[in-house]
Amino acid sequence: MKRGILFVLSGPSGVGKGTVCTLLRRRLPELVYSVSATTRSPREGEQDGVNYFFKSREQFLRMIDEDALLEHAEYVGNYYGTPRDFVEKTLSEGKDIILEIEVQGALKVREKFSEGVFIFLMPPSLNELKQRIVGRGTETQATIDHRLSVAVEEMNLLHHYDYAVVNDQIELACERISSIITAEHCKRERFLGELFEQLETVKAADNV
Ligand code: 5GP
Repeated sequence: MKRGILFVLSGPSGVGKGTVCTLLRRRLPELVYSVSATTRSPREGEQDGVNYFFKSREQFLRMIDEDALLEHAEYVGNYYGTPRDFVEKTLSEGKDIILEIEVQGALKVREKFSEGVFIFLMPPSLNELKQRIVGRGTETQATIDHRLSVAVEEMNLLHHYDYAVVNDQIELACERISSIITAEHCKRERFLGELFEQLETVKAADNV
């Protein structure tokens, strides 16, 4: 069976990765979404096992020790990480999976899964990004300032990615990501192994 494709959606804080991913989940139900573990407290409306697996610091450190995470990163005082087994299992079942993670984690995944497809979600402008971080209204001023300076540094990491998608409108951003997924499935490399096997079978049958 063909393995699924690993997609990583990353980009600076406040660019709207979470919102884009939520819409993608609705639009592309066959795309599997990786639920991360985190030590941050749930926000209003967030559910354990749906938005995140909410863990204590001790539980999270144990997951690191047990090598249960594909990658992890500390971000604004909290740990975030991708449970490894779920990703491996999904890919081996031939299903595509998408990770919505911050940039340090995305770079670590790139080291392990060079065949993954890395998508950088861009704000229409840096000023727009600032408005989004401030406008979220769920953070303290110190957290906002920190997130903003981190976000500017993160923008410089674009060159590590395969695709850049501008999040000017959520629907458009989702359409672009959906087109990337389709294009990746049409890459000739995905067919070469299978075609070779078919040619061998035909040759053997015809005794060519
Ligand atoms: P938030 O606290 O706003 O939900 O997420 C903060 C940041 O952590 C976001 O940029 C989000 O993409 C990132 N994030 C969520 N899950 C993971 C993960 O498993 N690994 C890493 N490295 N970052 C994550």
